[in-house]
Amino acid sequence: RKIVIAVDGPAGAGKSTVAKIIANKLGINYIDTGAMYRAITYKALEKGIDINDNDRLINLCKSTEIDFQDENIYLDGKIVNEEIRQLQVSSNVSRVAQIKEVREIMVYLQRKMADRYSVIMDGRDIGSYVFPNADYKFFLTASVQERANRRYMELKNKGYDVTIEDIIKDIETRDKIDSEREFAPLVKAKDAIEVNTSNKSIDEVVHEILNCIKM
Ligand code: C5P
Repeated sequence: RKIVIAVDGPAGAGKSTVAKIIANKLGINYIDTGAMYRAITYKALEKGIDINDNDRLINLCKSTEIDFQDENIYLDGKIVNEEIRQLQVSSNVSRVAQIKEVREIMVYLQRKMADRYSVIMDGRDIGSYVFPNADYKFFLTASVQERANRRYMELKNKGYDVTIEDIIKDIETRDKIDSEREFAPLVKAKDAIEVNTSNKSIDEVVHEILNCIKM
């Protein structure tokens, strides 16, 4: 049986960490939809495209190939896992992700992936918009402080030069734009199970979610 598991929530709630582990345990594909919006944003920045120029961004999107293979994100055939994590990309991605036509292209790709194989997808609108009939929907939350701390440790460990203040600002700004945008905003789907990850270990969250899933 082919299944779809949606994992949504604000930035840094632990979605990708948890979704990756669950994908491995269940033997299904993990798709990081945020990476798709990041990839197109990264390409735009590289090309020096004005992030407020919707028409150019839409055209760029139409002429760009985004794909996942073995949890790697491919941008026009090149792996860009690391490049898309830069703070410069983070601080611009929500503006790009506001554009309806950009979202339509990404959502089309996401639905095509789920046609082919079972997926656990993390994002902002997976349960509410991309897959309203998903088999399972989870909405992860945590305090801003906790989310910023996690992101900070993650980026520090990878050798990025960031401050906690930068991260808090990034998270708060993105959450605001993501929740207030017109098209498919960040929102908990009515039938999503809310999981507050504050003060919980990764293992605890994974178990809480796996307990809900029957394959
Ligand atoms: O998940 P991540 O924090 O990497 O996502 C980066 C950004 O991509 C989000 O802040 C949001 O603007 C956008 N995004 C989105 N819809 C999704 C996934 C991500 O708009 N399904």
